[in-house]
Amino acid sequence: MERLVEERDLEIANFRCCGDEDLYPFGCPDCNHLMVFCYECETLYDDLTELGSKGTLVNHSDIASPIFRCPRCSRAFEYFFMRNEQYKVPLAKWIELGDGHLLAKGVADELDAGP
Ligand SMILES: [Zn+2]
Ligand SMILES: [Zn+2]
Repeated sequence: MERLVEERDLEIANFRCCGDEDLYPFGCPDCNHLMVFCYECETLYDDLTELGSKGTLVNHSDIASPIFRCPRCSRAFEYFFMRNEQYKVPLAKWIELGDGHLLAKGVADELDAGP
């Protein structure tokens, strides 16, 4: 099994939305854009190089419609996208794409340590 980036891998101090951050790290399968979704307050961190960027429109109630679209390629994410494993990102890929600095201390070292 590939090591995937999970909520506990994120350094939570980087993220500020509701004060009770529950963070879901994921990526767009079409364009590899990485994002983090706070499922406590339903805020989308839509640009991880600029964590103040939370401008993407999020659908908070209509489960028949996409919850949001990828800000880079406009791919629609289904309302319950968190249940869909295809959006999870392998740890190696997350770091390769340049967002390793958002991980908690020691997480990146797991790659070097091997399985
Ligand atoms: Zn929040
Ligand atoms: Zn995309």
